[in-house]
This record gives sequence, C-alpha cells and structure tokens, in this order.
Amino acid sequence: MGIDSRRGLSAEQLLIQDGARKLAAGFADVAAEADELATPHPGMRQALADSGLVRLLVPAAYGGRYDRIDTLAVTLVREQLMAVSAHLDTLFCMQGIGSYALARGGSAELRRAWLPRVVEMDAIAALALTEDDAGSDLKAVSTTVEQRGDRLVVNGRKSWISNGTAADFFCTLAREGDGYSMVLVPADAAGVSVTPTETIMAPHVMGDISFDGVELPVGNRLGEPGKAWSLVFATLGSFRVSVAGAAVGLAQAALDAAARHAVTRHQFGRPLAEIGPVGQLLARAWADLESARVFVYQAAAQAADDPRAALDVSSMAKVVATEAAARIVDNCVQVMGRHGLVRDSVIERAYRAARPMRIYEGATETVLDSLSKELVKQYR
Ligand SMILES: Cc1cc2nc3c(=O)[nH]c(=O)nc-3n(C[C@H](O)[C@H](O)[C@H](O)COP(=O)(O)OP(=O)(O)OC[C@H]3O[C@@H](n4cnc5c(N)ncnc54)[C@H](O)[C@@H]3O)c2cc1C
Repeated sequence: MGIDSRRGLSAEQLLIQDGARKLAAGFADVAAEADELATPHPGMRQALADSGLVRLLVPAAYGGRYDRIDTLAVTLVREQLMAVSAHLDTLFCMQGIGSYALARGGSAELRRAWLPRVVEMDAIAALALTEDDAGSDLKAVSTTVEQRGDRLVVNGRKSWISNGTAADFFCTLAREGDGYSMVLVPADAAGVSVTPTETIMAPHVMGDISFDGVELPVGNRLGEPGKAWSLVFATLGSFRVSVAGAAVGLAQAALDAAARHAVTRHQFGRPLAEIGPVGQLLARAWADLESARVFVYQAAAQAADDPRAALDVSSMAKVVATEAAARIVDNCVQVMGRHGLVRDSVIERAYRAARPMRIYEGATETVLDSLSKELVKQYR
C-alpha cells in the first residue's frame, strides 16, 4: 500500500534496512527508559557493536564496510532505529558524525588508533562545534588552538555536545590564528573536563566540555591548519540527510500509533477513522510522510555520490522531513485526543523528539537562509 519505498534499493540495502528494523524491535520495551539515561544504554551499545551496523559509518580501511560512506544505507538505518528509540538512533549516528572529520582529515596513525575502536563501540565519538555564544553562527567560536613547537594547546568551552558525558574523543572546531582548524581531543587528556548539559524536553546524552590548556601532539590536528570548514561541510553533507531519515522513521511510528488508535476507538457509534476530518488528518499525514520519504531517499543517494556537492539537497531533505515530521506527529496526537498526551507513550515521545530535530544540525531557518542564497545565485 502506498508508495513502494523499497523500489530502487539494492538487495544489500534492503538487508541492512531489515537488520536495523530487527535490532530496533528488540529494544521497544526499554525505549522510554533509555531516552532518560545520561549515559549510553549498555544493552543498546553492545547490540550495535554486535550488529555490525556501525561499520557503515567508517571507511573499510579502518574496519568499516565500504570505502566511502553509503549515505543512503545510513539514512535507512536511522529511519528504522528512530522509529523505535531516539537514544538508539543517536548512539548509532554519533559514531559517524563524531568520527567523520577524523576519517577525512586525520593522519593514518590517528585513524588507526581510533576508528577501529569506533566500529567496535569501544570508543564513543563526539563532534564539538557549538559554544554558549556560537550556535548557528559557528564563525563566532572562541575556543582556540595554538601550535607551540610540536604541540597543540587548546583552550575554550563547548556546549550541548551529543555524547558529551560519554565520549572518548571530541572532534573539535577551534580558531587557529586568523582561521579555523579541527583537532581531535581525547576525553582523558589533562585539562579536559565535562559537565552534563541541562536536561531538555527530549533528553539526550549531552555534555558541556571545557578545555583548559589541553596539550596534544601536533598530529591531532585534523586536515590542514585553517581548513576546518571543508571538514565541517563534508560532515554536514553526509549526515544532515540522515537526520531526515530519522525524522521519517519518527513520523512513521507516530502515524502507525494514530492509525491503530483510530480504527479501534469508537465515538459516535463508529471508529474515529470513519469520522471524516479524522480520516483526513490521517490521510494528509500519510501523503506528507510518503513524499518526504521518497525525497529523502533520493537526496541520500545523491549525497552518497558526492557529499560536498550534495549539501544543498541534503539540507533540503533535512528541512522537508523534519518539518513534515513535526506536522505529522502533531496531527497524530490530535487524532488520539487525550490518549495522545500520555507521558512516555510512543506518540508522546515522538512529539517531544520531533521538536529538537528542527534545531540541531542546522535550524530550519538557517538552512533555508543558505538555500535561498544558493537559489538566487542561479538567477543573477
Ligand atoms: C539535542 C541537541 C543535540 C546537539 N548536539 C550537538 C553536537 O553534538 N555538537 C554540536 O556542536 N552542537 C550540538 N547541538 C547544538 C546545535 O548544533 C545548535 O542548537 C544549533 O546549531 C542552533 O544553534 P542555537 O541553538 O544556539 O540557536 P541560535 O543560533 O541562537 O538560533 C536561534 C534561532 O534563530 C534563527 N536563526 C539563527 N541564525 C539564523 C540565520 N542565519 N538565518 C535564519 N535564521 C536564523 C533560527 O530560527 C534558530 O532556531 C545540539 C543541539 C541539540 C538541541
């Protein structure tokens, strides 16, 4: 029924999708509890390691599955994981988002030291870009890295970093002279301290990280000095579309819950689904969901071919799918009436989880602002 979203997926991608669906299903009963944890759920961490799915996030030379990341496969996995557990989805995707700058810009020695551990879930990865006074405007970061002989010295503070309280290393954006560089900071380096970020409506494992005169070997710089943006954009190009995949999974879970409810609950002597406006809410949500999914898969396939060039479509997919998910989840709550408001139910968790997705990895308005600049360039 509906658009056959499996069309165009390879047999291998379908197997990956199926593996992710089965993995997630095993955690349905603990999903609400896991969402509240301040550190990774041990069972989910182990199951991800055993599943081999994390291999999708790392290049083959370092224990990964493919030479280049198959963005579509990652997007398919996130769709399945997020449909069941936001905690599981974050645990999975951050291993890629947090290690991508290392995979792209790290020395062979640094990659060898960390990436196989990332695949095994033995090292937890994090990407530390934002600070209290630098959110959308990343050029405003004040964390610095300075080269002194063969050492790098990092000073500053990062905030709202996913995996912050659990990470083994932080791929960190810092000012270096007049430019910006990325450095890998191990969590156990002297001068690194972590405090939990304030609890948000859809709890995440998150921390604020202070770097107080942290000394590192010069080899911990990722990429060329002053060339941080190519790593940041490549990370966004590869992973922004996967947020869209997660949004599609979340919206599907909400629609499943609402449709099931609407056929079983009766009011005015008939199922809710047969009361015209209710059926229309569901039908609109369905159409919204299917169109988002088709677009997201297409964008993810394009991003797999060339993440940097596909940043625009990856960004569009993120906006389309996260905004659609917010509308869908809201309408699904409406369909379920008071039953949609029950704390920690599937629908209530989806409602809360949908909200931050429109803010992190590029707030909708910020992304649209960049897209509008790209669009008008074509007409000047
Ligand atoms: C759950 C969660 C996890 C996160 N994980 C990480 C992480 O792992 N690593 C990390 O580095 N950061 C992380 N962040 C931070 C995240 O990247 C920022 O929240 C995001 O970049 C937006 O910055 P801000 O919240 O400071 O909003 P601000 O920059 O203060 O913007 C507020 C609002 O103003 C508008 N706005 C701002 N600038 C523009 C513009 N140029 N054009 C149009 N509108 C604009 C938007 O509507 C935006 O929502 C996380 C955040 C959340 C909520």
